[in-house]
Amino acid sequence: MNTNLQPQSPPLHEYVIERINVGVFSVNRDMAIVLWNRFMESHSGLRAEDVIGKNLFECFPELPRDMLERKINSVFILKNFAFTTWEQRPYIFKFAHNRPVTGGIDHMQQNCTFMPVKDAEGEVQHVCVSLLDVTDTSIYQNMLKKAMQSLAEASNRDGLTGIYNRRFLEETLAKEFSRVRRYGGNMSLVLLDLDHFKNVNDTHGHLAGDEVLRNAAQRVTAGLRQSDTAGRYGGEEFALILPETTSEGAEILAERLRARIADQPVQHENIAIPISISAGIAQWMPHMTRYENLIEAADVALYKAKDSGRNCVKVAQVQASNDGDARSQPTGT
Ligand code: GH3
Ligand code: MG
Ligand code: MG
Repeated sequence: MNTNLQPQSPPLHEYVIERINVGVFSVNRDMAIVLWNRFMESHSGLRAEDVIGKNLFECFPELPRDMLERKINSVFILKNFAFTTWEQRPYIFKFAHNRPVTGGIDHMQQNCTFMPVKDAEGEVQHVCVSLLDVTDTSIYQNMLKKAMQSLAEASNRDGLTGIYNRRFLEETLAKEFSRVRRYGGNMSLVLLDLDHFKNVNDTHGHLAGDEVLRNAAQRVTAGLRQSDTAGRYGGEEFALILPETTSEGAEILAERLRARIADQPVQHENIAIPISISAGIAQWMPHMTRYENLIEAADVALYKAKDSGRNCVKVAQVQASNDGDARSQPTGT
């Protein structure tokens, strides 16, 4: 079969290797370049006649030499194919790509195949490397990853206030609870509930109520430690998860928040709406085996705060029960 395109043209396979939109090059056992196609020429800026016969690493000192030598030598010795993917190593050659910079990818991402080229005796004489431009795949994968991250982030957030939601709070509480049960130490939970919030809605309307919630959410979450987690636990309830914090420490924090909220009314359409908050605090105790026990204890303390006239903080105090077990009982301050 005549595979020549025209009498003077190179054989078809040479023509294809030369023109294909894939980098193709070969090296011998001394790492001297023996084949260099047009893709490699145009992306490296070095023509075949500039590099053929020369050492690959002398032509390209910035190549990851140790890794490449190991790969190529393994193909010479084992006579098997070898591969690199952009996920392990984004690129071998520092080539530019023609995509918009907004993709966040600095250089052409590459998948490489290292193929043994054997002689009639089955000895590997050359290793032929094909280099595939997979920049688009990596850009789309990055976009997908970012979209997944922002979805995950959104699923942790409360739509009205933007702070963490109950789902995230419970997840965090469960994690922190098992950590403290396993390794010991302290942790406290604070439940905060706006006082007579129904009155705000009834008097000023739901939009004003929403504004109060947003404002309170900002004040409740401001200035916490990085290890603390604050979120909206329910309608007009907030929760604070405080690792490595005793109930005394939690009380100081809750009292500060209470004062911060009571001291400044919320402005809505030129109306000042005074608000206040009640708080219940529980510290983890070794008899608590489920994180729900901590929520229950904080809830009881919160109701105690409501009973005591609201706009105050109550701590679930630990008292020895009849069987000698430590139990949380709300006591007032
Ligand atoms: P207490 O001091 O005993 O906590 O009284 P309260 O009025 O705050 O408590 P109650 O449970 O009677 O009322 C809570 C109100 O919170 C009722 C509900 O309509 C309102 N609420 C819950 N979620 C939202 C919301 O997203 N926006 C608005 N505007 N109101 C909400
Ligand atoms: Mg309330
Ligand atoms: Mg409530």
